[in-house]
Amino acid sequence: MANISIDAECDACAGTGLYSGFAEPAGVAVVCLRCDGTGCAKVTYKPFSGRKARRGIKTVRLSRGTTLMSGVGPTGKAEISYAEFAAGAMPQERPSAKVHALKRKQR
Ligand SMILES: [Zn+2]
Repeated sequence: MANISIDAECDACAGTGLYSGFAEPAGVAVVCLRCDGTGCAKVTYKPFSGRKARRGIKTVRLSRGTTLMSGVGPTGKAEISYAEFAAGAMPQERPSAKVHALKRKQR
């Protein structure tokens, strides 16, 4: 499917075409670099037409996160085959089998 372009309000300048931040003296603005002062940002996207297949993957696991601070890569032990994922399944973490009850000293 072909990409679609729409005109959106520039989010860098809130559609004003001007930017005024800490580097600009009071009452002075500069022309917005993102939209060249038009206030309009072209947004191009490809409409979703269903999940595509991916080659070279055998196993699907859950992600730890998206930043190095929180951690990246697979997490937990849940994993499914790519064939299961392609059929609509998702890896599921099982709830902890052992629930440790607090032991109180009763004397
Ligand atoms: Zn702008």
